[in-house]
Amino acid sequence: MRERGPCQSPQVGNGAVVKYNFKSHPTIYSGVAFRSRLEARWAAFFDLAKLKWQYEPYDLNGWTPDFLLTIPCSHSECCDNHELLIEVKPFSSIAQFEGHPCMDYPYGTNDCCNRIPADASAAFGNDVNTTFFEMAHGAGGGSFDITYFVNDAEELWVKAGNIVQWKPKQNKTGLMPILPPKPAPRSIRTWNYPV
Ligand SMILES: [Zn+2]
Repeated sequence: MRERGPCQSPQVGNGAVVKYNFKSHPTIYSGVAFRSRLEARWAAFFDLAKLKWQYEPYDLNGWTPDFLLTIPCSHSECCDNHELLIEVKPFSSIAQFEGHPCMDYPYGTNDCCNRIPADASAAFGNDVNTTFFEMAHGAGGGSFDITYFVNDAEELWVKAGNIVQWKPKQNKTGLMPILPPKPAPRSIRTWNYPV
């Protein structure tokens, strides 16, 4: 896995640094260690929506996308699936992603004709309505958010939040249980019998 501190700002193509201040909570979900609870929540959301995902699938030029997401599409003019390379940030508006490489590959390509290995780059923020990608779909294409492709997206987002929320284990008194000491393994237990 790539080494990058959870709060470190990524370097982008033109040398500018996108600044953001937040405290991320590394979270384990589905056996994967995510850098933030928000990333883990997106993974849980994708699972609930039955969408295939991969965490940090590629190192691209100046950008390591957080997810590769596969979205099945039954449109007769589409090829079974759409693939997105997604950046997740704790942003509440798409405008905050401005300047980040995840905004540079509409239709999978940038102005210099560099292509990414997906149909489009995508910006995913703090909730299902703060998502954005631009790609070919059907006879045309355009800008979409994830709610266009996922039924009940808002309901699934709430469920995903419950799945990754940290919950301390509590007993009936609301206190953390005190665990009894573990017995020593039998094989190393010794006893001297008085003769
Ligand atoms: Zn499509």
